Amino acid sequence: MTETTHHRICPLCEACCGLEIKVDSGKVVSIRGHATDVLSAGYICPKAVALKDLHEDPDRLRTPLIKRIGVFEPATWRQAFEEIERRLPPILARHGRNAAGVVVGNPSAHKIGLLTYFGKLARALGTKNVFSASTLDQMPRQLASGLVYGHWLSIPLPDIARTDYLLVIGGNPLVSNGSMWTVPDFRGKARDLRARGGKLVVVDPRRTETATMADTHHFIRPGSDVFLLAAMVQTLFARDRVQLGSVAGWVNGLDAVREAIQPFTPEAVSARCGIAANTIEALALSLVDAPRAAVYGRIGTCTQEFGTLASWLIDVLNAISGHLDQPGGTLFAKSAAFAANTAGRPGVGKGIATGRHHARVSGAPEVYGELPMTCLAEEITTPGDGQIRALVTVATNPVLSAPDGPRLATALEGLDFMVSLDIYLNETTRHADVILPGLSPLEDMHYDVAFPQLSWRNHARYSGPVFPKQEDQPEEWQTLLRLAALVQGKGIDTDAGLLDDAQFAEDAERLFGAKAPDLIAATAHYKGPMRSLEVALRTGPYGDQFGAKPDGLTLEKVIASAAAGGIDLGELQARIPEMLRTPSGKIELAPPTLVADLERARADLGRPVPDLVVIGRRDVRTNNSWMHNLRTLAKGPFRCTALVHPTDATRLGLVEGSQAELRNGARTVRAPIHITEDMMPGVVSLPHGWGHDLPGTRLQLASQRPGANLNALLDDQLRDPLSGNAVLSGIPITLHPVESAA
Ligand code: SF4
Repeated sequence: MTETTHHRICPLCEACCGLEIKVDSGKVVSIRGHATDVLSAGYICPKAVALKDLHEDPDRLRTPLIKRIGVFEPATWRQAFEEIERRLPPILARHGRNAAGVVVGNPSAHKIGLLTYFGKLARALGTKNVFSASTLDQMPRQLASGLVYGHWLSIPLPDIARTDYLLVIGGNPLVSNGSMWTVPDFRGKARDLRARGGKLVVVDPRRTETATMADTHHFIRPGSDVFLLAAMVQTLFARDRVQLGSVAGWVNGLDAVREAIQPFTPEAVSARCGIAANTIEALALSLVDAPRAAVYGRIGTCTQEFGTLASWLIDVLNAISGHLDQPGGTLFAKSAAFAANTAGRPGVGKGIATGRHHARVSGAPEVYGELPMTCLAEEITTPGDGQIRALVTVATNPVLSAPDGPRLATALEGLDFMVSLDIYLNETTRHADVILPGLSPLEDMHYDVAFPQLSWRNHARYSGPVFPKQEDQPEEWQTLLRLAALVQGKGIDTDAGLLDDAQFAEDAERLFGAKAPDLIAATAHYKGPMRSLEVALRTGPYGDQFGAKPDGLTLEKVIASAAAGGIDLGELQARIPEMLRTPSGKIELAPPTLVADLERARADLGRPVPDLVVIGRRDVRTNNSWMHNLRTLAKGPFRCTALVHPTDATRLGLVEGSQAELRNGARTVRAPIHITEDMMPGVVSLPHGWGHDLPGTRLQLASQRPGANLNALLDDQLRDPLSGNAVLSGIPITLHPVESAA
């Protein structure tokens, strides 16, 4: 056989690196970085080569499964849809549309079919009970962006290629290669920053891999980022150092911020943060003194009770230090397709709304069309009108990745019916009645919908399938459409292609009016997400506008560029005011809900610091819960360890390598101890996504080294009230040698 070369965007994390995959005789023979990829220039991390393991994993599901008398049996697609039709619509008919819940997970962000068609299923179900992984770790960032700039995905990104000073708070981009910021080879870019005389400063309760290469690292008490950030803002006002730079004419609310921030002096917050007042002042002044500087915050700043406030204050800091919308400061990407901040009238929009409905049990407000994932279990178990009795899950494993997984597992067992679209029989899908397998990423075409909106450089890249899919296997968008048709009573023989044509025609009519017939004719050679992509690219900011700009982008041109590494659309540029979508056409620096929420933070300032708290941790060889079954990544030292500072280990009687029990009230997990000065005293770190020792899964390799489930320790009642995001960081625990615990 002949070796062939394929180019693929890595679907395993937000860095979206370009891969070069060589195939011979139907097998992957090598996976390398694609040297000319316009975004990643040949960089890859160890996870990329595991794509071969994922594709070949004998545990990866290749046929639908139906549970009969508690045992999963292989089924045909027809049998699977018949079973769903037999059981799901009657529940909705009897109990109403809100009797269905739908949950979507992180991997769907790397599948254009899932990302662009999940909403069609949710709308067909007609339920308010929509949940996603966004409320586990990123909704605060999105809500702050929505309130300040008018859209949920308008995220200011550090212009790392040109900055002189990068302050990273609660993030570890050296390991993640960016999150809510697509920046492959962060290490190389940070090295360049330092080589040109710039500074990298990290604030984190752990001396992370990023902190290890930084010029300066400051420990901070978990959950106190909001106080540090507020005090830095206060310092710039108090020292009369506020400068808005080029966005000065576009800012509303500066005086409101000045007034609201007054109580948060460095002296007032110092003890809570564990950072000296003069250090806080110096951090603020370094930022404003640097000609080109950016503040970036991530997981640690989001997964806490004040996540939205912290995300907002990062934006305030970037703005009032003169670095917002500046080369070398923070800039907004201009995505070639699917970005709301390039659509419609430039510079003004509807803004965002939250609380259009509320969770039935907790009353938590809807945010970005979703309810908090931490409400899911109680929405299933609490009787009454609107109780969730049937659940559809899509590429998600909340039993391991959401707080109080054991409670959720019990809740899932009580459902009348559950269907999962997933590639594994995992800790969540084991509760399903029907599992519909997704495609291997190597069988699927792809274009990143979300990540070009978050990328360090503008680009357009497409990946074709490396391998053909099995003949009877539907595309994932077709599966979602068939499910949508089924719950709308259209039967299981609905042709997904015809349904899609009809929906596309409707959308075209609504969006393009009299031009719709021309649009439909011009795109007739594409189906499903390919057609959506063609329309988005051609009508997007670089598009050919269907012939009006002949040099502009089309899907055909983007496909043709795959072997060359995609189309480079240049470095990020200043975009204010045209990217704003607020009703005022201004940057709303002081959204009333956020200013009001500062009072909650002020009232909390005096809360005693717990003796010991737990935080999570990202490892370069894992990503959430779903990569522990891949041989390449499972090799080497066991990574699910609890990191403890030596002083804590000594006072608690813990020794290196011993087992310890972490306790949060009645919740307990056990993990091996690793003693390290990389931890802040009083803080323990355990990675999340582990706990593969539950019965009924089909994850042979992962179950051999299951690890401890951090989320089993956490309380699903704790959340940021504005965004609904779970509180995962800074949870008080006690730690005990297993001997004395026994
Ligand atoms: S950093 Fe690794 S896992 Fe993430 S996209 Fe790049 S190669 Fe893939």
